[in-house]
Amino acid sequence: MAAATVFPEAPFVHFRRVAHPRVPNRWPHYRSDVLAKLAAKTGRELSTVTSDLEYTLAEPRPGYPEHHAVAAGALLLADQLDLGGLGFGYEMGSRWLGGGRYLWRFTPDNPMWSPHGRWGRLFAAAGVHLVLPVGGVSEAVTMRLALSSPLREQVRWCLRGTDGPCRNCGKCLYKELIQAAVERRPLDTPITADRPVARKYLKKPPYGGQEMIQYGLARVPGIENTLFAPALDYFDVSEESTSWLEHCYPPALEEIPARWRAQAAAFIEANVGLMTESEVRRVESWGSV
Ligand SMILES: [Zn+2]
Repeated sequence: MAAATVFPEAPFVHFRRVAHPRVPNRWPHYRSDVLAKLAAKTGRELSTVTSDLEYTLAEPRPGYPEHHAVAAGALLLADQLDLGGLGFGYEMGSRWLGGGRYLWRFTPDNPMWSPHGRWGRLFAAAGVHLVLPVGGVSEAVTMRLALSSPLREQVRWCLRGTDGPCRNCGKCLYKELIQAAVERRPLDTPITADRPVARKYLKKPPYGGQEMIQYGLARVPGIENTLFAPALDYFDVSEESTSWLEHCYPPALEEIPARWRAQAAAFIEANVGLMTESEVRRVESWGSV
């Protein structure tokens, strides 16, 4: 939704899973139907693509379509919709910091999302460029932008809840930490430290989305009295030491294809601001110290 806010005129293509006749659905609690309804409520021009493509994947097993697979519908509709690029909401953690999914270090040559990587070149060769309008800002910033946008009511990070985020899954816990930090309020979660989704914070880092864990530890009032307290032992964080996560890493704007760069840069400069030299070094030394 943050990426969509940068380009308010862009149409949406929603990739919606449908059942496969033979492969069982191992994640029936992932509510793609709820996301389809939210997409329809945005009022944007919307194409919903129904597909069982994800069931053809061996790894990851059928869950919810992700990564470049969600682009399949948009690629097939590219001529009809006259698309020149596909915007994704991947933020700095995924694009530049290794995300926690693959590795925890600065990744200028990220094979998934850099324009000069395998996928970026393949998409560009097909005439549909990968565009990451918010690739230079942290999840705290994308959350702030999304929640202060006209799309606020359709923001949803949980694939389980029907009337809102479920508040009980690991993703809801992680996002609650970020939202509490953004809103400068105490943590509000029904999850207790004995729950499996909370147990990882009793162990040593690295954690997925570690930069946002540090950001939350530095900013959420009363964090020392929550299930995140054990993680405080592993980091020496402060608002100052995490303030680089409130600004945009400039090379992320430079790598946006020229056709969309000026609009994205103007939005980011007006609503976020660019990193200083020392903040840029925080990004580029991530995982090496
Ligand atoms: Zn949830």
